[in-house]
Amino acid sequence: MTRSLVTIDLGAIRENARTLAAMQRPSELWAVVKADGYGHGAADVARAALEGGATAICVATVGEAVPLREALPTSRIVVLGPTTAGEVAVARRARLELAVADESVPEDVPVHLKLDTGMGRWGLAELPAPGRSVVGLMTHFATADSDRSFASEQFERFLRATEPYAGRYVRHAANSAAALTMPETRLDAVRCGIALYGVDPRGQDATRWGLRPALRWESELAQVRRLAPGQSTGYGRQFVATAESWIGIVPVGYADGFRRDLTGTDVVVADVRVPVVGTISMDAFAVLLPGPAERGAPVTLVGDGMTLEAHAAVAGTIGYELACGIRVAPGRATREVVG
Ligand SMILES: *Cc1c(COP(=O)(O)O)cnc(C)c1O
Repeated sequence: MTRSLVTIDLGAIRENARTLAAMQRPSELWAVVKADGYGHGAADVARAALEGGATAICVATVGEAVPLREALPTSRIVVLGPTTAGEVAVARRARLELAVADESVPEDVPVHLKLDTGMGRWGLAELPAPGRSVVGLMTHFATADSDRSFASEQFERFLRATEPYAGRYVRHAANSAAALTMPETRLDAVRCGIALYGVDPRGQDATRWGLRPALRWESELAQVRRLAPGQSTGYGRQFVATAESWIGIVPVGYADGFRRDLTGTDVVVADVRVPVVGTISMDAFAVLLPGPAERGAPVTLVGDGMTLEAHAAVAGTIGYELACGIRVAPGRATREVVG
């Protein structure tokens, strides 16, 4: 292995898609693969999701969609984010569908009118009478993962505005959190990202939905050393041994996406959970071992019970951000696709 190995299990993606599609039926499952499939690899994830029963692929930008069109010549691809006037021609040529969040609605490409019902970001304040290029009506929840009553208000607003068009256009609102926990919001299609990757949108336990994490991140101990009391490891001497201690150095750092605020989380060394101690540096971090260990001992950063959700709780962030932040750079990390 290089310094670390990220393994993406497409079998897990396929199964998660199957599980979600079955749970959402008769609503369609649309797979969200923006930001390179939340760091998992967009084309591979999209293919696996389609095999598992997803019926469309969603990305954030036209630039993300174009290479996907080459990989997936016949699938429905929807761009959820805003588009510049110049990108409309590109979108038409690549047979994309566009979410439109302002008054200038392109005529010659299929569009989804995006109503802002409370997200306060992209979206039309009022739904205009749909023109002939409109194929869908959509909104996006601000709080499906945190405040269900606000999400319900948003949903009511959306229903009121779109009721006259029910059955004529695909109506879609739910992200993963809504699709899982607010079944009434499923409408004609749900747009699931994080759940597809087997990560819980609310930072809890995705396995309770029957979802399995698709990403594993592994490395190995590059160095094992004994610290005498008073000796420290890493920048700033943030960890000072109070008793004789064994420290393992893992050759992964914040440049790889193992962020500086992950100090205090656990990783798994030779099947034992151990804490990350001291300052995480650009290329390495330290773990406190229960005793001497072999150099080269396997280290699991994500997997074997250590989840992105658990790391995110320590870092004060969400699994989404950690997944997108894992950086597979030449000479540093490798991504392998299995299943
Ligand atoms: C990213 C995104 C989603 C997917 O959200 P998850 O929480 O990952 O399921 C759905 N809809 C829109 C508009 C998005 O931008």
